[in-house]
Amino acid sequence: MTSSFEKIEHIGIAVSDIASAEITYSKMLGVEPYKREKIFSQGVITSFFKVGDNKIELLQAISPDSAIAKHILKRGEGIHHIAYLVSDIRKEMKRLSDAGYLLIDTEPMQGADNMLVAFIHPKSTGGSLVELCESVV
Ligand code: ZN
Repeated sequence: MTSSFEKIEHIGIAVSDIASAEITYSKMLGVEPYKREKIFSQGVITSFFKVGDNKIELLQAISPDSAIAKHILKRGEGIHHIAYLVSDIRKEMKRLSDAGYLLIDTEPMQGADNMLVAFIHPKSTGGSLVELCESVV
């Protein structure tokens, strides 16, 4: 079995107030966010922090029908998804779909931080929302 999974790209954290969460994370990590970005297709504002080789992505909903707003209503703030860097997202989507994983997206979408992204439903991963990311820089 061949896989193009390379590493954990980031951990996504759902927050209800990104400005206040940025202050909390800046104080905790001792660094400022390096990027804040609106992703209209996903209805979110994102803010990224570097932690060594790793990244934390804060996500705030910009509309009440966004997945982040629904997540916070259901489960409150906190860890929302684990994102993996893959070298070939279409290949991984096909491989995982063929293996019975439930993909939320049928095509990769433009995500935050110069990535093509696609999500795998938590139902098929043991309860955690999984994001696949392929760098498009
Ligand atoms: Zn993410």
